[in-house]
Amino acid sequence: MSPALAEADLAPLDGAREILRRTFGHQEFRGLQADVIGEVLAGRSAMAVLPTGGGKSLCYQIPSLIRPGLGLVVSPLIALMTDQVAALIQSGVAAARLDSNIDPAEKAETWRRIEAGELDLLYVSPEGLMQPWMLERLSQTPLALIAIDEAHCVSQWGHDFRPEYRMLGRLAELFPAVPRLAVTATADARTREDIRAELHLEASREFVASFARPELILSAERKRGTKEKRVVDLVTARPDRSGVIYAGSRDGTEKLAQALRDAGVPALAYHAGLDRSLRTTRLEEFLEADAAVMVATIAFGMGVDKPDVRFVIHADPPASIEAYWQEIGRAGRDGDPAEGITLYGASDMAWALRRISERDVDEAVKQVQVRKVRQLYALLDGTGCRAAAVRRYFGEEGVKACGQCDLCSGAVETTDVTEAAQKALSAAHRLGGRTGRGRLVDHLLGKTKEPSAFEQGLSTWGIGTELSAVQWRDLTEQLIFEGLLREDPNDGRPLVGIGDADAVRQVFRGERRVAMRKPAEGYDPSTRSGRPRKKSREALAALAPGDQPLFEALRAWRSREAKAQHVPPYVIFNDRTLVEIAAARPGSRAALARLNGVGEAKLAHYGEAVLEIVGGFEG
Ligand code: ADP
Ligand code: ZN
Repeated sequence: MSPALAEADLAPLDGAREILRRTFGHQEFRGLQADVIGEVLAGRSAMAVLPTGGGKSLCYQIPSLIRPGLGLVVSPLIALMTDQVAALIQSGVAAARLDSNIDPAEKAETWRRIEAGELDLLYVSPEGLMQPWMLERLSQTPLALIAIDEAHCVSQWGHDFRPEYRMLGRLAELFPAVPRLAVTATADARTREDIRAELHLEASREFVASFARPELILSAERKRGTKEKRVVDLVTARPDRSGVIYAGSRDGTEKLAQALRDAGVPALAYHAGLDRSLRTTRLEEFLEADAAVMVATIAFGMGVDKPDVRFVIHADPPASIEAYWQEIGRAGRDGDPAEGITLYGASDMAWALRRISERDVDEAVKQVQVRKVRQLYALLDGTGCRAAAVRRYFGEEGVKACGQCDLCSGAVETTDVTEAAQKALSAAHRLGGRTGRGRLVDHLLGKTKEPSAFEQGLSTWGIGTELSAVQWRDLTEQLIFEGLLREDPNDGRPLVGIGDADAVRQVFRGERRVAMRKPAEGYDPSTRSGRPRKKSREALAALAPGDQPLFEALRAWRSREAKAQHVPPYVIFNDRTLVEIAAARPGSRAALARLNGVGEAKLAHYGEAVLEIVGGFEG
């Protein structure tokens, strides 16, 4: 045992900080990292809920390096493991993964290293870990800890339930002496409770960080016109930046990617229907590019740890607020400003609700899922700060408005339309739920083609001339979002009827007001305030113009190095670190070592090359 480790036993957090600096090149712990690490170093199990980008992985990586034995990390996706293992190896950590993609020779070598006590971290899938022979072999191995990454996958109240995670509950009795750390970025109170129950962490401490992501600038708008055109407009207004666009279907990703390429944007499609090698190439291309746009289904997600994603656009809405925050959270991981833009519509909500009703699960589970969908659309179509709404949803208290989302910056004004709402509700009631949205609007305007005598005889016929057809359509949609109207799918030709009877009665009595958004066209940050664009420009150019050439030279070197090693560039150094190097122009190894993101291994591997490039720019 090295002297540093003996010291670590005396003052565990000093040892942890030492590793944070030497191995990972970061100066200080962030948020709750130190608390979580302290708990695990004391040999106790814990649960940690940290937002995406909050630095969850160090919470188990550092204790694995300090505590004797192998650190075991359970992770749901191979892509996630591959990335983390590559990054750890770059930092000089002995890490490996065992999954179905690893060939037998490499597997045997990994086991040899495990048994010789040479490995610090081993990444495994839940089903891989729980195979009897694997458990048997691991029971002979001293374990530093067991980390359960993406722990919300264990809960059916969560948004990403994976039945194979359920088996992990047995780890408590199989390895009673080994501390277990469950980590996740997304879990509301109920899901957290469920994770603790399933993983037998009831008696353990729970660390819940703030879900604030101040670098994210959120906006959402109702779908209008063709989706492709809107997305192309949003993307072309953000040139030379990396972004992810989520679409609801495979076909949708292909169409959008094509539309973007037609507009001159280098966009790639990614979905589970593509063959594996094509997916891998596209993923690498995206990770390695300085500015690339990936159009993907949610099959593209976890483990995509590209730090400089400047925008995430949901061309179709996410499945829940958890999914929203996780998917949007892939933007701005380097801490620089980034945008999350969501397109949504009442038909998306209807579709999501229909999917749930068709699912073969318990009634209680369906109810939870329906509530989650309603909460999501209340957030998207709401009129209060979006960031604050998300944080409240995750159980944070005393949350303040973010001041920078579309709603905070006042782009969405509302007007009281209670009277018009009463007309629409009463028309829907009189029409008896037998018409679609378009017919309802025509009825209000008295413009129905070939109206029946029955329809013309209704007191609501033509009473709505104060609003235009577009405004009535908006209002109808609004009423559906609020549950005042209900849309019945009717095999793809949806019919509108009265929704929640109590709420409708309140509107008629004037006890409940209905407010509608003004202006009707969606908020467009690129054409209105211009603020998000300016901000990200500033942050990216935290670099003095004079340092730009050095920065570019460093990037070019990093790009060559990454290609040679077949790793994404940011695992070598991220942009932040290159900016720091370009600004500080370190003249010695010691000066270079002081910069963020430069640990010992990286100093040893790349120190010379970097100093040489910097030296070339002297004078
Ligand atoms: P997540 O919580 O999403 O899994 P990661 O563990 O991948 O986040 O960390 C996100 C990024 O933050 C990584 O690039 C990591 O190097 C960086 N990071 C983690 N901890 C710190 C820290 N204490 N100081 C500076 N950067 C950190
Ligand atoms: Zn806000």
